Amino acid sequence: KDFRNNVKPNWCPGCGDFSVQAAIQRAAANVGLTPESLAVVSGIGCSGRISGYINAYGFHGIHGRSLPIAQGLKMANRELTVIAAGGDGDGFAIGMGHTVHALRRNIDITYIVMDNQIYGLTKGQTSPRSAMGFKTKSTPGGSIESTLSPLEVALSAGATFVAQSFSSELKQLTALIEAGIRHKGFSLINVYSPCVTFNKVNTYDWFKENLVNLDQEEGYDPGNRIQAMTRLMETGGLLTGLIYQDTTKPSYEDQVTGFRQEGISKQNIQITEDEFERLVAEFK
Ligand code: SF4
Repeated sequence: KDFRNNVKPNWCPGCGDFSVQAAIQRAAANVGLTPESLAVVSGIGCSGRISGYINAYGFHGIHGRSLPIAQGLKMANRELTVIAAGGDGDGFAIGMGHTVHALRRNIDITYIVMDNQIYGLTKGQTSPRSAMGFKTKSTPGGSIESTLSPLEVALSAGATFVAQSFSSELKQLTALIEAGIRHKGFSLINVYSPCVTFNKVNTYDWFKENLVNLDQEEGYDPGNRIQAMTRLMETGGLLTGLIYQDTTKPSYEDQVTGFRQEGISKQNIQITEDEFERLVAEFK
């Protein structure tokens, strides 16, 4: 199935987000989805435009709120495959509360974060993922705050699928998105997606020199949460590959009781005009 549409992305040439778009399109095709069975929900930021660049249902939400929208969508129509996407400012600053609670809730969504360690759309300010000492317009003397480690937070919050990749590793990134879509529960995939315009420190070359690929690490067990946390701490989060997966924890929607299992969009809701008026009156 073709997940490409005719919309030309207006990302800067060389932006890492192009690879993420291609990886989502390839992964969706590889798992046999159709454009009608996929919804891509995004927040605000350069990366937030991605929902308009994929031939599927798209919802360009508001800043930091892709996950509440994506979760509502999944509960309303559980037959949809739902991907939420956004940047590190979107998901790990203003949206961090939603991210933590979606992680522990384990609702069946794939969340892809394009992590470029800077705010690109607003022309280059320090983000929670920027390194200490990082100089931008908002921190001209260098950032004095610690860098947030979202994957360590995810493991602490009860995540069941944690992975990381890099825009230059399209094959690995595609495979991880496929695995995330297949995972029955919440999957967090953080992608080092360089901002070539505003981040002159964390460049493609910098990542190539510094990333450690777990796919090449003998004896690494993604089922071992302690080992996952240890390797993240040892490498300062500069790992790629499947870092952690727990297939035993049921998803949120499979545990909801007192609620019909089929999505709201599939339920035959017939009410009379009087009942409708009464319901509306309750919310006045
Ligand atoms: Fe990509 Fe940075 Fe350009 Fe935004 S400003 S499109 S993140 S390269």
